[in-house]
Amino acid sequence: MTAYIALGSNQGDRELNLLRGVAELGKLPRTRVTALSAFYETEPVGGIPQADFYNAVAQINTELSPLHLLDELQRIESGIFKRTKDLHWGPRPMDLDILFYNDAVITGERLTIPHPRLHERRFVLQPLAEIAPDLVHPLLHKSVAQLLATLTSSERVEKL
Ligand code: ATP
Ligand code: CA
Ligand code: CA
Repeated sequence: MTAYIALGSNQGDRELNLLRGVAELGKLPRTRVTALSAFYETEPVGGIPQADFYNAVAQINTELSPLHLLDELQRIESGIFKRTKDLHWGPRPMDLDILFYNDAVITGERLTIPHPRLHERRFVLQPLAEIAPDLVHPLLHKSVAQLLATLTSSERVEKL
């Protein structure tokens, strides 16, 4: 299975956190990191005043199920990065979101795939477009490159 993981950090050493996050993805059972975007410094969205984020997107090949993958990502967030129950959309040392999992469409209590807000976020679409411009959103039926081109939000997203 091919999945895309969004990584974000705005606490601590943000670059080191992204590097560590990618390493932890690569260490997951039956999982390999197969592509990685550049790192971006991005303006926070959601209205809470906080430090700029570093964001990236990784492509992984995995045999973990979507829910098992989510368990593992949450274990990395809390176990490795000591992320605590924080303010929703507030500062965090590591946020790991599943953007796509093959062309699966999942609407569950714990997990929604594709990630329901990915198409309105420049800080996700820009790194994703580097490694998967032709990937088609299974619900919106548009490619990542098309979603990025029609994006109206104008948060600052700067490649490092
Ligand atoms: P956003 O989802 O808008 O990016 P967030 O990343 O700040 O917000 P979190 O507090 O990290 O939100 O996660 C809240 C819950 O979202 C998690 O406990 C998880 O169960 C759920 N969730 C639903 N869909 C996904 C997904 N595709 N990837 C990661 N978590 C998800
Ligand atoms: Ca998120
Ligand atoms: Ca999250």
